[in-house]
Amino acid sequence: MADYNRSDAGQGVLFVVATPIGNLEDITLRALRVLQEVDLILAEDTRHTTRLLQHHGIDTPMLSLHEHNEQQRIEQVRARLEGGAKLALVSDAGTPLISDPGFVLVRALREEGLPVVPVPGPSALVAALSVSGLPTDRFHFEGFLPARSAARRKRLAALAACDETLVFYESCHRIVDSIDDMAEVLGAQRPAVVCRELTKQYEQVGSGTLASLGEWLLADDNHRRGEFVVVVGPEGRSPNDAEQVDEAALRTLRVLLEELPPRQAARLAARCHGLKPRVLYQAALDMKPAQ
Ligand code: SAM
Repeated sequence: MADYNRSDAGQGVLFVVATPIGNLEDITLRALRVLQEVDLILAEDTRHTTRLLQHHGIDTPMLSLHEHNEQQRIEQVRARLEGGAKLALVSDAGTPLISDPGFVLVRALREEGLPVVPVPGPSALVAALSVSGLPTDRFHFEGFLPARSAARRKRLAALAACDETLVFYESCHRIVDSIDDMAEVLGAQRPAVVCRELTKQYEQVGSGTLASLGEWLLADDNHRRGEFVVVVGPEGRSPNDAEQVDEAALRTLRVLLEELPPRQAARLAARCHGLKPRVLYQAALDMKPAQ
């Protein structure tokens, strides 16, 4: 298999390059090199990407690729790749394809076996999760909820039973209404975190319940400005019990407890399931003897 990790590796390739979500320094050395070396950058908004390129002294030509022309661009991109060109795809912020254009193009290229290579970096969803203090072992990324309240509530109702952390993107225009709907449909006391303007000058990360965060948003006009990620914790799981013991581990533990004392059974079950013995030891003590 060809080595596409370098943009000078001889064959046509599309690099999908993550760019900053605010702070222009949040870009990898590899991303900068790829953006400098490729023949053409496909950018969601060429004016927006110009600021990033100028900041880093990069003068690679650009061509727009956004939700309204993505389908038409496929043929052009395919022809350039087949001719051996190196291209980069960027969006206005963060990782392309994550609530951003690129999926239609990448799917088409992969279906034809043309090389598509990730150059990973920032994404608002991962940045928000990483500071939320809510369980990150399993999460559901929802992206933007519908703009209209009835459709939004319907979608939230479908998510209400999900026992994973939920991650939403939201704009300043809808943040108050969305949080209100979340409180009503998911539960006012659900733990949640509002991340505003991550990596930017007025970055704020506020923790509380959906009800208290709704009040916080109304308390000051500035709290409602900018871009938002809302992270909602799963019902009944506090930020501290992220290390859940799954059913399979408990079954193993039950069987071992028929033959072994709790400490030994917990140690062996933990080894089988890659968990900490302490967690299973507590489960063993809590467990009624198998029927
Ligand atoms: N592709 C991007 C990514 O990887 O995160 C997301 C693009 S999406 C069109 C833009 C939305 O992402 C914003 O409305 C907001 O919900 C979220 N977002 C992007 N940058 C952000 C930031 N600096 N702080 C908080 N949310 C942000």
